[in-house]
Amino acid sequence: MVFAPDTEVALRSVVNLINTAANGGEHLATLKDLDDFLDAEGFTGSRTRDEAELASVRRLRGELTELWLADEATAAETVNRLLREAGALPQLVKHDPWDWHLHATTPEAPLADRMSTEAAMAIVDVIRSKEMDRLLVCAADDCDAVVLDLSRNRSKRYCDTGNCANRAHVAAYRARKAVS
Ligand SMILES: [Zn+2]
Ligand SMILES: [Zn+2]
Repeated sequence: MVFAPDTEVALRSVVNLINTAANGGEHLATLKDLDDFLDAEGFTGSRTRDEAELASVRRLRGELTELWLADEATAAETVNRLLREAGALPQLVKHDPWDWHLHATTPEAPLADRMSTEAAMAIVDVIRSKEMDRLLVCAADDCDAVVLDLSRNRSKRYCDTGNCANRAHVAAYRARKAVS
């Protein structure tokens, strides 16, 4: 484990959120898409279930994409701004099935504020552990999905959205065949 469990869960959610727009796609097109995404990621708490909420999550997705690709100093600035804007106040909580972890917003806070705070708190861990190089973009030439490398030996290079690793493997094999 590279980070605390809640941090890793939050970072995986950020990856999944950013990748809903990977490679020119839009997997957060409708309110139903948002419901499905939040269910899959285990997000609970208050919802308005309207277009404004959907738009706020898509806006956050854009900000988190920039944050993912940012250098350390810029990322730190963005994290501080996100926490300020959401009025974040870190508190240790314990609720089933989770052991002690941090919440920095209340369940009544707007969805996008809760999502941005959770993401920002996780990136706080990444930055202060000097681990920004674990936040990557897929190594496949034709793929812009983001990748979270939580491997011990920092070996993850391809995203989980398609079969980029497979395709790269096949391409490398063909290239070797071609020269031999
Ligand atoms: Zn919780
Ligand atoms: Zn990829």
